[in-house]
Amino acid sequence: MTDNTEAPLRRNPVAPASPPTSPPASPEAPRDTWPAVWKGFRMRCPNCGNGPLLRGYLKVRDHCPVCREPYHHHRADDGPAYLTILVVGHVMAPALHIGFVVWRPDPLILLTVLSIGAIAMSLYLLPRLKGAVVGFQWARRMHGFAQAPTA
Ligand SMILES: [Zn+2]
Repeated sequence: MTDNTEAPLRRNPVAPASPPTSPPASPEAPRDTWPAVWKGFRMRCPNCGNGPLLRGYLKVRDHCPVCREPYHHHRADDGPAYLTILVVGHVMAPALHIGFVVWRPDPLILLTVLSIGAIAMSLYLLPRLKGAVVGFQWARRMHGFAQAPTA
C-alpha cells in the first residue's frame, strides 16, 4: 500500500534508480581511481586510507580492520611482479649503461652495486605495486569488488 501524501517528494518512478549524485555509500557510487591507487601504493586501504592493506610482506588482508571493506576477492596475480620488473628494468638498464660509460668501474663492483640496487628496489616496489593493483581493481570494481559489501 502506498502513501500518496509523499508523492510530490518522490522521484519519477521511470528515472534510473541511481542518479549521478548518489551518496558514496551506494554500491554503484563512482570511485576515484588514482587516489585509490595512491592509497594502495602506500599499502593503505583504498577505501578509507587508514587501515593496513597487507598482512606480512605481500599477503592482502581479507578485509580492512578499520572500515571493514572486503579485499578477499582481489585478483592481483602476477601484475605486481610484472610492474616491478618493468620499473626496475627501466631504471637499472640505463644505470648500467651510464655507470659503465662514465666511471668504467671494475666489473665485479658494477655487478655488485647493480645487483644490490635491483634487489633493494624490487623488494621496496613489490608490496607497494601490489597495493596499487588492488587499489586499481577496487576503484574500477573489477572481479568481486563490484559486489556490495556484506558488512
Ligand atoms: Zn579501510
